[in-house]
Amino acid sequence: MGTTWIAGAERLGGGDIGGSMDTPSAPPRVVWHTTESGAGDAAFDAVGSYLTRAASEPHILYDPTTDRIGQYGPLNESARALRNDGSTRTNRTGRVCIQIEVLARAGKPFTDYWKPGPNFKALMAAIRSWGVPDTWPAGSCAPGASRPRTTWATKGGHYGHCHIPGNDHWDPGNIDRNAILKAAGGGGSAPQGGTSGSASGSSVARYQVTINGLKYGYGASGSHVTAVGKALVAQGCSAYQEGPGPNWTDADTKSYQKWQKKLGYSGSDADGVPGEASLKRLLGTLPGASASASKPAAKPTVDLSNLIAAARRDPGLKQGGTTHAADVRIVEAALKAEGLLSAAYASDGSFGSVTVTAYAKWQRRCGYTGSAADGIPGKASLEALGAKRGFKVKA
Ligand SMILES: [Zn+2]
Repeated sequence: MGTTWIAGAERLGGGDIGGSMDTPSAPPRVVWHTTESGAGDAAFDAVGSYLTRAASEPHILYDPTTDRIGQYGPLNESARALRNDGSTRTNRTGRVCIQIEVLARAGKPFTDYWKPGPNFKALMAAIRSWGVPDTWPAGSCAPGASRPRTTWATKGGHYGHCHIPGNDHWDPGNIDRNAILKAAGGGGSAPQGGTSGSASGSSVARYQVTINGLKYGYGASGSHVTAVGKALVAQGCSAYQEGPGPNWTDADTKSYQKWQKKLGYSGSDADGVPGEASLKRLLGTLPGASASASKPAAKPTVDLSNLIAAARRDPGLKQGGTTHAADVRIVEAALKAEGLLSAAYASDGSFGSVTVTAYAKWQRRCGYTGSAADGIPGKASLEALGAKRGFKVKA
């Protein structure tokens, strides 16, 4: 089990874009796209919500000029940026088919001017966590690339949209394929179908996964981490010198790896970072975020001043400048959960008139009337919404 949600990626849309893979026993792969747009925050926000409206979401939206990253859906489920090849659902080919839309144009290869940073590294680490090999099986992405059907069906690695059978788009253009792999840093991907030895020798996996709303893996903390540690010790799977404690360290990863191997996992499936199945077998149940004392640490924070600025700049994007989409989306999701905002507007990240109207309803529900229920968030009403729907308020 690899990374499903990249820690640090902004959540885009409703988080539910696809379903299970059709050919999970086929090797894991990645498909690179370009949005055929400019880059920068305004483009990120506009294209980000456009892809949701168009129901053409990739997994990842990436800005090569700012290293900003967003994620629409879990990497182990399908995305929606490819066309089918006849009856073959290309979006659902492979163990994973991770699709990335880069804010760039095919005619101007983004690797000529990009500035990959920590978020790009995190993306590539997540890709490698699924065992995607550092190869480009269909070769160059230059104009005139071929779309080899058998290669696509049988080989894992990195592809461009230009390589996918049954599709007619030519993105991402003639990018430097080695630069993509090089910018990932680190020791390369796990050997495909390999043995339990890792390509980078004794290195310990240091990524996180979110299972049922709780984080596991290096750096995660909370009572649920302690519970895993205690269960591992009880199973005789201990690499602990001390503890186990509330913070997930390499010792937890090594101990969990023993558990995975005991269950018969190998290779990248036994890297010491929990998957849902092995965790459930260890604990007998999957703890949920609501049942854990660690929940406050995982709550997102909404900045009240950002929100007010966004609400007064209706309709957001047309005014230029920042729209504070990340803050707005959290509140929109909460309003939707309250039944006050329809799904069509619930993740657009724009605090427009519809969202203002929905927020005014929330204010009236809180007992405000008249101009106190004008739809522009105030501290008390926002904190009430956050307390109910799981976010913190920075006032
Ligand atoms: Zn494309």
